[in-house]
Amino acid sequence: MLKRMPRLLLILLAGSGLVGCAPVPLSPPTETVFAAPRVSASGYIKYWPGTLPIVISVPHDGALMPMEIPDRTEGVTVRDSHARALAEALRAALTKKFGGAPHLIVCEISRKKVDCNRELAGATQGHPLAIQAWQEYHGLIDTAEQSILARNPHGLYLDLHSHGHPHKRIEIGYLLKPDDLKLTDQVLNTDETVRARSSIKELGRLTPGGFAELVRGKTSLGGLLEERGLAALPSPKQKLAAGEPYFNGAYDVAAHGSRDKAQLDGAQLEIPLPMRDTPEHRAATAQAFADALEVYFERHYRRKLAADQAGR
Ligand SMILES: [Zn+2]
Repeated sequence: MLKRMPRLLLILLAGSGLVGCAPVPLSPPTETVFAAPRVSASGYIKYWPGTLPIVISVPHDGALMPMEIPDRTEGVTVRDSHARALAEALRAALTKKFGGAPHLIVCEISRKKVDCNRELAGATQGHPLAIQAWQEYHGLIDTAEQSILARNPHGLYLDLHSHGHPHKRIEIGYLLKPDDLKLTDQVLNTDETVRARSSIKELGRLTPGGFAELVRGKTSLGGLLEERGLAALPSPKQKLAAGEPYFNGAYDVAAHGSRDKAQLDGAQLEIPLPMRDTPEHRAATAQAFADALEVYFERHYRRKLAADQAGR
């Protein structure tokens, strides 16, 4: 009977001396990292809910090729190899370190059929089933975000990809263009229009360190990853030379980052092959991210990265 009693009531009863048991510990909700995911109605999108204020999405590592959806005839259709496996390694590393998992949303359908990181028309070519999968993917990211914002003032959205550029470094996209990255620290810190066009607009307002520090300083995500052995751009060490390829972020971080709405801050992460190709490399990359995010949250959000507690 006690088990069925609401936790708050139990605590009140315990405090009043009406039940003779020890105080009820507030433990985190059941961990879901190895639990079955929620599967969308189309069957193509999977969502593993979490308890950390972090959402990870993987739009481009799907393998399913349903015959009823025609192949896309325009835009990039390359698969992001190992991106899903890296997301799972990252989820495991975060869970081990913080005692709670990030939310994870994965598109299982091939990018040849639908591209969840593009606006609807180009992503789906108007096919109803492709539109449904696209809407489910973004709807589940929204669900994860709302779940976080119900318990936290802020949160971070990471859109995970793979790249094959010559420079084997992580490319972090905040929607800032190469010309923005050439601006001086003083301009980044004082020209609010630059911050306003980034997917970390809200965090840029919150951080005590200034926007330049958040984008490319020692405690930027890139700086913290560099310090842990993963080359990353932007960061104090990595500069973008003229004409070099660089993914600065696309639809996902525009739709779910804080540029347009005061919601989660967003970063597109493009991972080079040597940091994602084997289980050992993925585990090392994931551990560096987990360690970097611990410092990042304390420095910029000014709060410890921690799992939601039941009843909070
Ligand atoms: Zn991609």
